[in-house]
Amino acid sequence: MIKKEYVIISVLIIIILILFALIVNEVVIKKDSDNNLIYRETIANNTGDPGTVEVIRNIGNPDGKRIAYVVGIHPLEYQTHNTLVNLLPDVSNLKNSYDIYIINVTEDVGHYGDGSSDNSLGRQNGQNLAYKYVYPEILNGSYDLVIDIHSNVGAYSYQTFVFSPVKDGLANQYANQIALNSENISYNAPDSTTSGPYLTVPLNEMGIPAFYFEEYSFASQDIKDNHMLELIGNVDKLFS
Ligand SMILES: [Zn+2]
Repeated sequence: MIKKEYVIISVLIIIILILFALIVNEVVIKKDSDNNLIYRETIANNTGDPGTVEVIRNIGNPDGKRIAYVVGIHPLEYQTHNTLVNLLPDVSNLKNSYDIYIINVTEDVGHYGDGSSDNSLGRQNGQNLAYKYVYPEILNGSYDLVIDIHSNVGAYSYQTFVFSPVKDGLANQYANQIALNSENISYNAPDSTTSGPYLTVPLNEMGIPAFYFEEYSFASQDIKDNHMLELIGNVDKLFS
């Protein structure tokens, strides 16, 4: 009989924990090598929006600088976004503290058509979600740096590069430093970007350095992994 009661109590505890996780929209995804709990949290899931926004919080060293990565603004660039989400929580010995903002566009995601262009409406949906939810969270989150992750279909003079959309200021210095320290990441600033006004430009204007990382959309996963690890490592070295 006692054994049966243990089973019932265990099941009840599990149900209560699941309900609690659902209520606070927060799920512990793992414990890192330094015993920090890494959380995945939904911060926006509202009818009428063309998608949702999540954050993975507390990666790395909580005593270091606070750095935010943002993925998902342009939904077709998801292979590069997933590369960061898969790799960063598993990198050990980080000197700084990282959150990953994840925009999940669910409406008009689009497709690559002939394999080269992305004119999908999903781009604007992602930009709107970024401005509505990610921008205010980062603005009020005491971050020291923001990196917005994208990929491109090869229309620029470089395939893998960083740049700041605002040419004077800290973000520009940081991006140049990353390129200087990287074998495979160049500095290349396009004249304009479609997404800048929805996140990186206003952040820079409000004093929070924010730059872009661009990967080649059709690079192999191995190459995407190598480039992303190079970015992660060199971003961490900016403040060490
Ligand atoms: Zn993009």
